[in-house]
This record gives sequence, structure tokens and C-alpha cells, in this order.
Amino acid sequence: MKIFVVNAGSSSLKYQLIDMDNEQVLAKGLCERIGVSGGISHKAADGRSYSAETPMPTHSEAFAAVVYALTKSDAAVIGSFDEISAIGHRIVQGGSIFPESCLIDPDVLDKIEQLGALAPLHNPAHVLAIRACIKTFGEKIPQVAVFDTSFHQTMPPKAYMYPLPYEYYEKYGVRKYGAHGTSHRFVSDRVAAIEGKPKKDIKIITCHLGNGCSITAIKDGVCVDTSMGFTPLDGFMMGTRTGTMDPSALTYIAEKENLSPADINRICNKESGMLGISGVSNDNRDVTAAAKAGNRRAQLAVDMQRYEILKFIGSYIAAMNGVDSIVFTGGIGENDPELRKEVCGNLGFIGVAVDDEKNALRGREVKISTDDSRVNVYVIPTNEELVIARDTLEIISKK
Ligand code: ADP
Repeated sequence: MKIFVVNAGSSSLKYQLIDMDNEQVLAKGLCERIGVSGGISHKAADGRSYSAETPMPTHSEAFAAVVYALTKSDAAVIGSFDEISAIGHRIVQGGSIFPESCLIDPDVLDKIEQLGALAPLHNPAHVLAIRACIKTFGEKIPQVAVFDTSFHQTMPPKAYMYPLPYEYYEKYGVRKYGAHGTSHRFVSDRVAAIEGKPKKDIKIITCHLGNGCSITAIKDGVCVDTSMGFTPLDGFMMGTRTGTMDPSALTYIAEKENLSPADINRICNKESGMLGISGVSNDNRDVTAAAKAGNRRAQLAVDMQRYEILKFIGSYIAAMNGVDSIVFTGGIGENDPELRKEVCGNLGFIGVAVDDEKNALRGREVKISTDDSRVNVYVIPTNEELVIARDTLEIISKK
């Protein structure tokens, strides 16, 4: 059975076709510049590839290009789209409405659209993509929504509430929702599988460190706290985002520079973090290289981010009254041994010990803690698409 996984943004569309009989990716690709010009790059698992510039005024033309790539191009992997059993969509914001993945029907689609108020950059794009799928593939093919926020819906109110006047929660749903839930779920499930224990018996801290970064505390098998909040701006310093900081610094700057809320949003989301501090790049590779070459601001950016990661881990150890396993994932978490060494080096007080040789391994699942470390530390490459495909398969199998 083949599942088509879609991760749609407002001007981009990432996809994978997964054969669920063996959970192998048959092909993956990316459409870019939707609404502006249009282009597709597509790769089959056997190495064949196809790319084209083709007008994509809307997501519908992008899906038409994907169908061509999958069925007719030099890198085609199926004869027709009829071979695909269902479509799974990554949805960024499910609010308090969606504690788990579900089949998309008109009511679910309406709710995803309404939640656009909480994720204006993402949910409206997901809705466009779902509608374009209905137009391109018809009403019959089941579509499933898998929410980045669902995994965090188990947080207790003391973790998800902001200490603002209560009316803003009641009127506007202002609270912590978290993000990257699909990734945190995947890697924490892997910990349980690797250790051969029920997840409920392991206190886990999962660190998803990529362009966006979040850390989650998992106790009794469920998420009890996470660093991202009302939006993915919360938490700690990322590629271009501030993470948590004193809001009065922002109102002060806004007054000084005569900035609007939209300006502040842009500055905090797109111009801050590693980029804002280093002035070099938002990309961890560039910033760490500049730091090594002696750039002081790049070094400061690196030091700030690692310090904040450490503080979040420390606070979650306290919140859970201990930790059994720590996971690093995401582009940085999977590929930056120095960051892992520095962060773990400061956790010696709870008996964390990392093996330098194992820590130097790249691109695969590995336990990097020593055999006598009191806490297991892992690098686990994340696979959000596989979780989406698995949920999709499970939901359509129940139909
Ligand atoms: P996204 O959040 O956009 O999915 P990724 O998870 O792909 O991002 O992570 C991107 C980040 O991973 C970038 O900052 C990049 O520099 C970092 N990264 C990727 N490869 C390496 C590497 N070999 N060493 C250090 N950092 C890396």
C-alpha cells in the first residue's frame, strides 16, 4: 500500500511517496515558488531524478507537476496515481481541537482553516493544499491530517498556560501549543523500542535542533512540557528566532524605532537568533565555521544557543524529577558533535557521560553515552514523514 505524504507551505510543497509494505521511500521531491513562478525537483529512490521549471500559479498546478513526476517523468515510480491509497498532510496547528491525527472531512477542513488565526503562515497553506488535492485527485482518495501540536496536547495547564490575564486564554486561546510534535513522538518512540521498555517507564528529554528548535519533556509516556509555545517563536534561540525573552525589551525597541507589531514579529522571527547575533548566517554550519575562524559574534551566538539548550534540559530534569534518556535530533542535533559534547559535558552532575568516538559518528541512530553513563544519550535521525504515513495508514485501515 502506497501513501503520499504532503508538507505544504504557502509557496512550497514537499512530498514523499512511501511504500507501507516495507516503509521504504519510493520518491521524494519539492515544488518551489508556487504563486510566483514554479519549479519541481524530484528524486526516485534508485537515484533517478527529474526537475523542471513550470508555471505554478496555485498548489493545483504544483500537484499536477508532482503527478507527472511520479507517473510519467524519467524518474517515475508508479504507473498512475490510482496506485496511491491515501494522502497524509502535515498540519502545523491543531490547537486544542485535535489531540490526534484524523481523517479530513469538510468539518475538519473548516476547523483547520479557523485555526489559521493561530498559525497564519501555515494553516491557510495547508488548506489550499488539501483543496488542491481534492481538485487534482478527486473526493474519493482519503486525506488524513497529522498535527505538529497533537503530541503536546497532554501537557497539564500549569505547563501550557501563560501568566497573562485569564481572559486572553478564554477569548483568543492564547496558551502554549508546542510544535515539532511529530518529531518528538517519533524519536521518543524509538527510545522505547531501542531500550525494549514501555515508554511510560522512561523519563525522556527530546531535543529537536534544526532551523527551528524545540525541547520536550516526556514522562509516563506523554509530553508534559515543551519549549515552543503559542507559536514556534517561543523556547530558545534558533536560526532566525529569538526564543523566550523579556517582552518589555520589545515594546521598548518598538517605541524607540516606531515599529508596528508586524515589524516586531518579523524581527523576532526572521532577523534574530543565530543570524541576529552573529551577523553571519542563520545556518549552524556557517556560524560555527565563523566562530572557529575567530569571529567573536559568531562564537557568542554559538555559546548563547548551547547555554540555552542546557538550561532547558536542566529545567526539564527538575520538572520530571530526573531523566533516563536524552535524544538529539534535527539537522543540528544529528550533525553537530561539538554541541552535543558541550551540552552533555555540563550534565555530568547527574551522571551523563558521552563516548567521544560514538559521538563522532554521523547520519545514523547511535547511543552516544558510555556504558556506565547514568543517563542514556542518543542521536536519532527524525522521520516525520514516516509518522505521517503510519498515522494515515492506521486511520484509513479503521474506515
Ligand atoms: P529545518 O528545521 O528547516 O527542518 P534541519 O533540521 O534540516 O532544518 O536543520 C538545519 C540546520 O542543521 C542548519 O542550521 C544546518 O547548519 C544544521 N546542520 C546540517 N548539517 C550540519 C552539519 N554537518 N554540522 C553542523 N550543523 C549542520
